[in-house]
Amino acid sequence: MSFLLHGIGVSGGIAIGRAQLVSHATLEVAHYEIKREQVPSEIERFDAAVNQVARELDALWGQIQETDTPSEVGAFIDVHAMLLRDEMLAKAPRDIIAAELCNAEWALVQQMNRLVEQFEQIEDAYLRERKQDVVQVVERVLTVLLGKPGPVLAQHPEQRTILVAHDLSPADMIRYKKHAFAAFLTDLGGATSHTAIVAKSLNIPAVVALHNGRSLIRENEWLIVDGAHNVVIVNPDKAVLAEYRLKQEEFDLERQKLKRLKTKRATTLDGQVVELHANIELPSDVRDVLESGANGVGLFRSEFLFLNRYGLPTEDEQFEAYRSVAVGLGGRPVTIRTFDLGADKNMEGISAGLDRVTMNPALGLRAVRFCLSEPHLFLTQLRAILRASHFGKVKILIPMLCNVYELTQVLQLIDRAKESLRVERASFDENIAVGGMIEIPAAALSIGGFAERLDFLSIGTNDLIQYTLAIDRADDAVAHLYDPTHPAVLKLLAMAIKGANKAGIPIAVCGEMAGEVSFTRILLGLGVREFSMHPNHLLAVKQRVLNSDVPQLEITVNKMLKTDDPDKIAVYMERLKL
Ligand code: PEP
Ligand code: MG
Repeated sequence: MSFLLHGIGVSGGIAIGRAQLVSHATLEVAHYEIKREQVPSEIERFDAAVNQVARELDALWGQIQETDTPSEVGAFIDVHAMLLRDEMLAKAPRDIIAAELCNAEWALVQQMNRLVEQFEQIEDAYLRERKQDVVQVVERVLTVLLGKPGPVLAQHPEQRTILVAHDLSPADMIRYKKHAFAAFLTDLGGATSHTAIVAKSLNIPAVVALHNGRSLIRENEWLIVDGAHNVVIVNPDKAVLAEYRLKQEEFDLERQKLKRLKTKRATTLDGQVVELHANIELPSDVRDVLESGANGVGLFRSEFLFLNRYGLPTEDEQFEAYRSVAVGLGGRPVTIRTFDLGADKNMEGISAGLDRVTMNPALGLRAVRFCLSEPHLFLTQLRAILRASHFGKVKILIPMLCNVYELTQVLQLIDRAKESLRVERASFDENIAVGGMIEIPAAALSIGGFAERLDFLSIGTNDLIQYTLAIDRADDAVAHLYDPTHPAVLKLLAMAIKGANKAGIPIAVCGEMAGEVSFTRILLGLGVREFSMHPNHLLAVKQRVLNSDVPQLEITVNKMLKTDDPDKIAVYMERLKL
């Protein structure tokens, strides 16, 4: 039976493929199709991995008997050995390999997800938590399997696979950068959640906030994902499929055409030059930045580099990552935002209490608040950024500033970092530019204090909207309230831009609003001349800039700022499209 699901499209485009249900973060393995004749050898590979882990557990058992290890450790090994022998883990994946013609790793993770779901139904809390043992045993087997890749695989059906999950964390999402799935669907999440932002950077269609997608869609069903129109068609009939294949071709053609603008300067009809920068999460994103023709990187979300690891990286590791971006950009500027950890982006192994369970993590220890609560950790990052500044045009950007005292502390720490480098005679840019993000209404309302102490500003509309409208950006239940044209948001944007102009410093917009062509003109009319967005949105925004006349826009935008009536604002928005 064919049916439609509605959600929030966070990435445009059309994908057609088969559903692959995933439970959660545990999926880190690629999915490959194998030929029927490869099934026996793939099963053999799986059996060999299981046997190797059994031997490893035996060896461990021997080691702890020779030492005075606490008896609980022995008990854990027993449980793991028992699970490993159980048919549900040792045999079921073999059946999945044969039935689904897939690689052993994928089969094992599928089976683990099923088992974890069963454990989650158990009422007894102790037994329920045993799912962790299942996950740990599977991880052991996966480690062996991944160290011994299988035969040359038939094809890469990832390109036709649409992942369907209840929820995915930003850390999960970043792992998918290595794969080539056709689209992503999740039940939870809002358009500007960090998960959605990373999905966008994968340049494939994605729809979030489907509510019941994970339970309504069945494994292997055909799906059409139309990210631009917020819909998913489950089990489409032949006519619908044919229609969407056509639409898909048209979309791809449009994208191709935009490439002609790559080297064109972004200048409005009245001759104003607009800087278009890119947002990145990983050094490997630099390739896309260069491909898009961006003027530089306006926002490097540095915390994404280190989400999928235990504990923070050393100064040298960070330095290498920042340096590689600075060098890769070949003289173009890179604005490195200091760690914006907390809220939906957490790391294991940090002592600073980020793992505390709080009622409102987005209002808690996040971003610069977290960094100031851990000055050593912050100093390490600042030193790494400063060292990288010797190799390119590097700027520092501080997220989530709320008051000028925070800023004073940050500036003192930057001075300390500089001083320590001077003592070591390390090279860095003495005049490195330091900017602040305007993401909290309080900062926009008191913009003067920030503007006079900083070299530049950048408006993070995702958080500014979240905090102005009191809507959790990651909560699908309030996602419909997300409104960049709310009169309060427009007034705050105007206020911040005016404050920066008065102080004579540049101000950019780096939230998702900057990459949405429907908002390009309103931002131009408000006075924004620097936009930073995911590289794959850049050419569409450039096209809109090229077709815009700023004096005309200013007339409409000024009228918009004078009304609190959302209906009138909607009419003005329509006028901006003309
Ligand atoms: C923002 O808040 O708009 C922003 C750019 O930062 P992030 O999305 O990473 O919170
Ligand atoms: Mg933000």
